[in-house]
Amino acid sequence: MGKDIGAKIHGTYIFYGKIKSLFIEQILLYRYNGKKAVDYMKSKYSGYMGKLVEIDLGAETVREYPWSDKERELYLGGKIMAARILCDHLTGNEKAFSEENWLVIATGPLTGTGAPSSARFNISAISPQTGILASSNCGGSFGFHLKKAGYDALIIKGRCKGRKWLEINDDEFIFHDAEALWGTKTGECHEKLAELCGKKNFGRLCIGPAGENLVKYASVISDERAAGRTGMGAVLGWKGLKAITVSGSRSVEVYDREKTAAYIKKWVAYLKEHPLTGSQLPRLGTAGLVSSMQSHSILATRNYSAGQFEDFDSVSGETLAESYNVNNSGCLGCTIRCRRNVKVDGKVVKGPELETLVLFGSNLGNSDMQSVLDLNYLADELGLDTISCANTIAWAMEASAKGIWNCGLEFGKPDGLASLLDDIAHRRGIGDELAEGSKRLSEKYGGTDFAIHSKGLELAAYEPRRAVGQGLGYAIANRGGCHINGGYAVIAEGLGLNADPQTPKAKADLTMMMQNLMEAISASGQCIFTSYAFFPKALLANPNGILTKCVNSLLPHLGWGIRIMNRFPRMLAVNLPIIHHTAILKYAVGMKMDLGRYLEIGERGYNMERLINTRFGISAENDKLPKRLTDVPQDPDDPSTRVPLEVMKRTYYKARGWDENGIPTEKTLRRLKIK
Ligand code: SF4
Repeated sequence: MGKDIGAKIHGTYIFYGKIKSLFIEQILLYRYNGKKAVDYMKSKYSGYMGKLVEIDLGAETVREYPWSDKERELYLGGKIMAARILCDHLTGNEKAFSEENWLVIATGPLTGTGAPSSARFNISAISPQTGILASSNCGGSFGFHLKKAGYDALIIKGRCKGRKWLEINDDEFIFHDAEALWGTKTGECHEKLAELCGKKNFGRLCIGPAGENLVKYASVISDERAAGRTGMGAVLGWKGLKAITVSGSRSVEVYDREKTAAYIKKWVAYLKEHPLTGSQLPRLGTAGLVSSMQSHSILATRNYSAGQFEDFDSVSGETLAESYNVNNSGCLGCTIRCRRNVKVDGKVVKGPELETLVLFGSNLGNSDMQSVLDLNYLADELGLDTISCANTIAWAMEASAKGIWNCGLEFGKPDGLASLLDDIAHRRGIGDELAEGSKRLSEKYGGTDFAIHSKGLELAAYEPRRAVGQGLGYAIANRGGCHINGGYAVIAEGLGLNADPQTPKAKADLTMMMQNLMEAISASGQCIFTSYAFFPKALLANPNGILTKCVNSLLPHLGWGIRIMNRFPRMLAVNLPIIHHTAILKYAVGMKMDLGRYLEIGERGYNMERLINTRFGISAENDKLPKRLTDVPQDPDDPSTRVPLEVMKRTYYKARGWDENGIPTEKTLRRLKIK
């Protein structure tokens, strides 16, 4: 196999390969919750591989983790499956850098089935950045290969003795010494892993120097795709696990091959014809939203002090496409293909997503597109989350301008940022301080009012004072200041529809519904960008048409209607032609599914994550935003241009069935079968 680094030192474990192993496995299963082993031996559902494994890094042992069909029905997979596993394990006393912090890598039932945009996997653990439950989603091909090896999820416990990387080949688990990989950037590490495995068709993920040096917002990189947010790379770094490779010879079965193929064909055609998934995303990538954000004054600019950037055109999606884009590509089997490829130092590499473009661009007062491309590439190579990294630098620039922390950084001056990123990843000089993120820096030096984070996680690129529903989402999101986990209400507040972005009306209920939907999409293994196509083409085709204007005007008055649907999701026992995600679960997985069940699964996941966070002390007082966004109007002459957070929070808690302190009530937990 041409292994230059390390040897097969320990820990090979064969499942089903020997009668003895099978016997031991069953005995272990009997010890779980007193349930019968037979419940866990295989799934009646297709799509799933039927096996989750617990990997103890210290002992270098592997064993099956029991998971029943009942649990598959309740939690689907991905981040919700991970939340259930961690909900059963975490007490609230665990620290991110501790052996008790289990890291769960999970796929969904649709991963690898050929359903559109379904090559996703999720990583969940306690975050070093926020100290609460984190989840981070990633594309590429790792999830698909994990399924081919026969696993729905890996549960990684403990800490390596020394530095290791893990090779999984079907039933074989091999722990290798990783001394020679340690210190490599992610691109070099990926190349070396290919040499070491001697394979072409396999999945891999790794951390860069940032993860090794415990930068709080270190990412995990897989095929140039990032599980960027919440510092999962630092958790792997602390565990001493540099990389995982996986290959397998199994196939992912589908329930009804003919119906699945026919439905996928229909869905792909729909996605291709839709203006967002068929045109904007393939043409411009997520970066295509920059111009729209500028026109709606929601483009984060100079540390969120403004919503428009005077030089936005230099760092827009159109400029990226016209002058820098080499071609586009996508995650395995994706028809949307939103990835932009650009040149950095003469090499074709993955271009920046919207978040990176804005946060290394307008939010640093930077109009030099090539510098954004360089920083984006470097951040991925070092294994840094671009959102938190750029936001922390923006805070430092403002702190420096205000004389709070004289670090020498200035808005509009990108020179020197490349070496700064290297210093952050290696924790050198001021890089060591910046590696802690904006929350900790502002608590040390002052300037908390303009440290743009929630629960320690820096916000995404949408300035929320002109999209207040998005502001609510940032504040209450389970993983901290995240646009996606926050419900992405901004799509109805300017980016797709244009429902009054300043009103709090209906935003809490809309946010809850969107959150539940996206939780379920993610849990099934699909990319949440498929949800762009929920908005009927007719509404998007003519933003100034009567129909669209009516919907925009009516939406803020429909909170009560959305509340009823949220409260009684089982009323929605239908499969809608614009939400294909439910029907495909019936055809590919063989699971009874409709919109109501789907929303309820999402709701269950959201509440389970919240329940875990409450054990770590999260309550209403943590659901907040920096004062800049709640107390200072973006337009000094228009007091409505700030986030009326407390009003929306109260409605949101009621809608969710949480008490006034933001804690899920016993009744809610029982209704959702969490307890
Ligand atoms: S839409 Fe983009 S991010 Fe999502 S699966 Fe496709 S290529 Fe990957």
